[in-house]
Formats: sequence, structure tokens, C-alpha cells
Amino acid sequence: MGFIIRKTSDPRFPEVEERVNWYLNRLRELEAACGRAAGSVRLMAVAKTVPTEKVNAALSSGACLVGENRVQELLARKNQYSCPKSQIHFIGHLQTNKIRDIINAVSCVESVDSLHLARALSAAAEKAGIQMDCLLEVNIGMEESKSGFSPEGVLEAAGEIAAMPSLTLRGLMTVQPAAASAAHDGRYFRRMEALYRALQEAYPQADTLSMGMTGDFEEAVRCGATIVRIGRGLFGSRDRQMG
Ligand SMILES: *Cc1c(COP(=O)(O)O)cnc(C)c1O
Repeated sequence: MGFIIRKTSDPRFPEVEERVNWYLNRLRELEAACGRAAGSVRLMAVAKTVPTEKVNAALSSGACLVGENRVQELLARKNQYSCPKSQIHFIGHLQTNKIRDIINAVSCVESVDSLHLARALSAAAEKAGIQMDCLLEVNIGMEESKSGFSPEGVLEAAGEIAAMPSLTLRGLMTVQPAAASAAHDGRYFRRMEALYRALQEAYPQADTLSMGMTGDFEEAVRCGATIVRIGRGLFGSRDRQMG
């Protein structure tokens, strides 16, 4: 009889381990139902407002990525995460004057939302002597309140960004309109899937489609998501986290 090697989870947060296991099982079920390979969807723990030890508990329970929205939060605790930088992605709006702060703390910026930001990120990566993975954020619902490339413009922008020397274009990211999420209306995710397939034809290194949150990750997986970004579903509602 062999031993099954498991990561040891943090006994202080059994509910986090339970939630991570629930998501991992549900992702495996959805992958199977869609005819996708087991493990083709990665579970990201979205860390905003969540205490670092709880995020680490999610990692040790099997979540494989951490998503940070806020530069300040990331800087305050980047050395306290129990995972290497390769598992930390930036997913929030990034101002160009903050790039320097995060360039060595994350392995991927999922929220590249303009050519201006892409150019500044590539320049900073070059200066730091690194290659930075990036996803292009698509404002799929064309909402005023969100930044990102338009669905009509993202493929053209991808051409320019793929040619930037210190960026590696890995795919697309989106947050769909809240109303569509609540209505389980898959049309925006289907549009994202079509954009992603078109991107992959032109740029075979593009292997990442980051979409789906607590309220809509199932639809996202059915539409080809390779990363789902889960906050509340793992850690509870954010107004109970602070303090
Ligand atoms: C907060 C956030 C998430 C997670 O949202 P939940 O509804 O808590 O799962 C995912 N992606 C981004 C960009 C976010 O800001």
C-alpha cells in the first residue's frame, strides 16, 4: 500500500479547506461534462480584503493561484504568501506609476486594459530583466464603469502587444456585467470564447482564458475558461473580512 501524498492544510481554517475541495470537485465535474481534460481549469483564490493566513490555507488546500487587485495589499504581504511568485497574478486596475512596485511580485498581469499600460509594462519588464506574462482585459459588456479593450478592438491591440519584447501574451480576461451574471446569461462568455479562439489562431502561445467568479464560474467553464477567479465563494462575503 502506498501513501497518498497530500498537502497539509491549515487546521485553523477548516471551512476554507472545505470550500476549496468543493470547488475542485465541481470543476472536475464540469470539465468532465464538457469533455475537457481534468485539471484544465485552474482555481484562483482572489485575495482582496482576505487575511493572508486564509489565502495561504486556500493554497495549501489545493487552490493553485492567488489573485491580487490592489497594489498596496500585494506589497504589504507578498513575502508572506506560501507560494512562489509564479502563482501570483495581478487582476486589478493598474496605474502605470505603480508598475515598478509590482513588477517583481507577480508572474502575470491579467488586467492589461490599454496599449498605454502594455507599453509601460513591457518597458518596466525589460528594465527589470524579466519577461512578463499578460492577459488582455476585455470590457465585454462595454460598460462605462469598467476599463478594458472593446471586443471589436482587442485582436488588433493583441497584434501590437504580442510584438512588445518583454511581454508574453497569454490570453484574455474579463468580468462580465453583473446583470448577465445574475441572469446566468451566457452570451458574453460565448463571445469571449470566440475572441479567445481567434486569438489562439494568431498567437499559439495564448493558452489562458480567465473568466468566471463566484456567481458565474459554471457558465465560464462551459465557455472555455482556463482560470476561474473565486473570492466570496472561498472566503465568505467581503464585508465580514475586514478588521
Ligand atoms: C473580486 C474579484 C473577483 C472575485 O469575485 P467574487 O465574486 O468574490 O468571487 C474576481 N475577479 C476580479 C477582477 C475581482 O475584482
